[in-house]
Formats: sequence, C-alpha cells, structure tokens
Amino acid sequence: MNNQFNCQLIKSSKSSYARVTQITTAHGSVLTPAFMPVGTRAFVNHMTPHDLKSTGSQIILGGNTYHMLLNPGMDIILASGGMHCMMAWEGPMLTDSGGFQVFSLSKNAKICRIDADGAHFKHPITGKVSHLTPKSSIEAQRIIGADIIMAFDECTPEKGGREIALAAMERTHRWLLASKAAYLHSDAIYGHEQALFGIIQGGSFRDLREVSTQFIVDVQLDGIAIGGEVIGFDIQKTTEVIDWIRPLLPENKVRYTMGVGLNPQDLIDVAAKGIDLFDCVAPTRNARHGALYHGNVIKKGNWLEFVSEKNQSRILIKKSIYAKDETPILAGCLCYTCQHFTRAYLHFLFKQGSSLYNQLACIHNIHIMHNVCEQIRCFIFDE
Ligand SMILES: [Zn+2]
Repeated sequence: MNNQFNCQLIKSSKSSYARVTQITTAHGSVLTPAFMPVGTRAFVNHMTPHDLKSTGSQIILGGNTYHMLLNPGMDIILASGGMHCMMAWEGPMLTDSGGFQVFSLSKNAKICRIDADGAHFKHPITGKVSHLTPKSSIEAQRIIGADIIMAFDECTPEKGGREIALAAMERTHRWLLASKAAYLHSDAIYGHEQALFGIIQGGSFRDLREVSTQFIVDVQLDGIAIGGEVIGFDIQKTTEVIDWIRPLLPENKVRYTMGVGLNPQDLIDVAAKGIDLFDCVAPTRNARHGALYHGNVIKKGNWLEFVSEKNQSRILIKKSIYAKDETPILAGCLCYTCQHFTRAYLHFLFKQGSSLYNQLACIHNIHIMHNVCEQIRCFIFDE
C-alpha cells in the first residue's frame, strides 16, 4: 500500500514478548520500543526541536487533528507547507485522528455530539459548529502531513458496560472502512507517503477486543493501535488486553498503545508484551508540576524494572530539602539539565515560576522516557 513506510522485525526477546523493530518513514527511521513526546497543539510543551532531538526523541506526536482544526486551522498549516515545516521538526511524526478529543468533549453534550456520521462540536470561543468525520479527519491529516496518520475512531468509555463498548467498536469499524476509503481516494500533499493505522476498540471485554483486532488486521493497514479509555490509565488492564490480542497481531506491523507512559515503568511493562510505540502527555505535565523522574533501569529476573532509592520514582522539586541540594536531579543522567544544573537551582527556578524551569524539567523527564526505551532495546540486543 505504501512504498516508503515499513516495519521490520530486528530482534525478539528470548525472555518476554518484547521486540526491537525498525520503522522506516519518509522522514527517517525509528528503532522501537520508542516513546513519542506529545505536541497536542503543534508544539511539545517547553521544548524546541533541538531539545527534543538532544533528549533522544526519534518520533513525535505532532498536532492533534481536533485542536489543529480549531486553531490555527488547516489553511494556516497548508500555507506553512505542513506540520513538519511549521514546527521545524524534520524527523518522523504521527498525528491523532481527533477521536480521543471528541470522546473527552462528548462528556459535555452542549459542546460535542456524536452520531453515526461523526462528531459535531461547537468552538469553545466563537461558537462556530464544526464536524469531524472519517473523511474530514483524513483530509485534515493529509494537510497536517504526518508520516503516520490514524483512522477516525470512537474511544470506548471504561464504565459504559458491554452494550456501549460493542456500539463504539462497531462504529469504529464502520469509520475505519470510511477512513481507508478517504485515504485511498486522496493523495499526499507534500510529496511523502503517509502510513495509515487503525485502532482496536472493545473496552475491557475479551471477545470484543479479539473481534476488533481481527477486523483491523483484515483491513490491511500499515500499523495497529490499541485504544480506549482504559489503555494507559490502568496499566494492569492494558497489559491484560495486549495479552488477549497479541496472538492475532501480524509480526511485521507496528503495534502502538495510545496514551501509555504515565510512569517510566509503564513503558517497560507494555514493551514486555510486544508493543513498539507509545505516547503520553504525563512526562511534560509532571515536569511542569515539579515531579521529576528519578530512577534507573535494572535487570530483575528475566526482565527489567525502573527502580529508585527509597522507592521514590520521582522527586518533588518544590520541597525545601532541595533548596541547598547541590546534586543533579539524577546522578549519572546524561540529559542537558542533569549535566549542567543542580536541584538547588531548579528548586529556585521553580519557586520563581521561571519558564526556564519548565524547559529544563521537561528535558529531563523526556530524556528519562527515551533512556528507558534505549535500555529495553539494549537488553533485547544483549540477550
Ligand atoms: Zn536528567
């Protein structure tokens, strides 16, 4: 389907389902497992493209389709030559279809309504009504120009029960076919190929997850994502869902769990189940709120664990104990922040409300996520 994009299995772990793959895109290749920093609104909070590269980012989640439609709008992105040019990010990029944002908004019926065609929502400020359908989502993602684009889906609420999970799954399947048709009937705008991924739904119901997986696999896409409210928020349930569906997944397709990465350990847990890609806003959000990741990946039994002294996987930099602490956030961390700055200085910047604090804190937390992925890859290579 796509001559520029492919996923090649490089090595499988001997002790778990983990694997190293190489994803090739028009903007470069990615060695997995790989974490994607999230730029919901066409920027990763507090980080320049240089910061992203220096922390080890191989691929980012570029602007989310829903947010990009509202602001700055597709005409601005098109005039900029696409999101890669606009953000000055030259590496691989993935976009979301807007399905998850629509799901979040639909909790407020005054703002967003979902029906068989798609989602209809009111602009929070102007009141203008917009529509997001499988076709319009694909058209927008063509303009965004990401290397990987997503089929429009309906995210499954965790507490809705079986009937709601079944309805969301069936709608997601219909929308997947419409997304693929829109994809096949449209061309890439900027000259590079774009890969299309589908999203498995089915909530926490094993039979629905299996049906959904088979459906997505049969549609023959470039990659397969696992979605739903539970994925990422409940890591135990997330790994259970992956175990259910893994036997159905083809080896040569990218596997992506959406929204996984609340903690560094979460990456280790889903990678062990055979997942290649993940994204989460938590590392930059935690950084902003003063929670800095603290720990190292060590071998434990036949696999890995993110461990820290005193069982503290993050330090809260606002605490007064750091006011005179002349050590870096994490001894041995190779990020720019830990190489140049002390906890005492970061504590001071945080108390000052300095934007420099946000940048330095995000650099460290994102570096830790990438380092965890690198440790996983090294472990698999060395086995
Ligand atoms: Zn660091």
